[in-house]
Amino acid sequence: MSDSSPKVRVATTSLAGCFGCHMSFLDMDERIVGLLEHVEFSRSPINDIKHCEPCDIGLIEGALCNADNVHVLKEFRDNCKIIIAVGACAINGGVPAMRNHFTLKECLEEAFLDEIGVDNPHIPNDVEIPLLLNKVHPIHEVVKVDYYLPGCPPSADAFLKILTDLLEGREPSLPKEMLHYD
Ligand code: SF4
Repeated sequence: MSDSSPKVRVATTSLAGCFGCHMSFLDMDERIVGLLEHVEFSRSPINDIKHCEPCDIGLIEGALCNADNVHVLKEFRDNCKIIIAVGACAINGGVPAMRNHFTLKECLEEAFLDEIGVDNPHIPNDVEIPLLLNKVHPIHEVVKVDYYLPGCPPSADAFLKILTDLLEGREPSLPKEMLHYD
């Protein structure tokens, strides 16, 4: 990518995730400054933009637990030319999908009625709370995913490699030592 090329627009978001993938992304530290010569961020931890604008690349952490997650994911798919599923939660459901071993009713009762120390037991039903899905889903079950960046979380080096490959017009290829699945 030459210095005169227009900047590539990148957005990131967290669905049902722990933000650990984003923390790893930020672990690029000062290398983010170099990236900013070629990249302009839309919605991301770098700024306070609330909605994804038209972008070249969207990085998505987290699985789909509720209706709001689905809405955000579809907004990203509609606006991003390339979608990258980042981390175990986005790729296969990860930790949030552990609740798939139980019914939603069992999970809600355990969390809000039966757990030790619960005060004023009741299941919240405020209309402002996003509707929970019956099961947690990885993002490829709802939208087309272009690339997968595995890990829990992927390393900062892996983020930089996949972005650099795309910025330089190469098909992303991560060396084995950057690929891990824990
Ligand atoms: S993949 Fe791991 S680090 Fe990333 S959001 Fe899920 S639990 Fe957190």
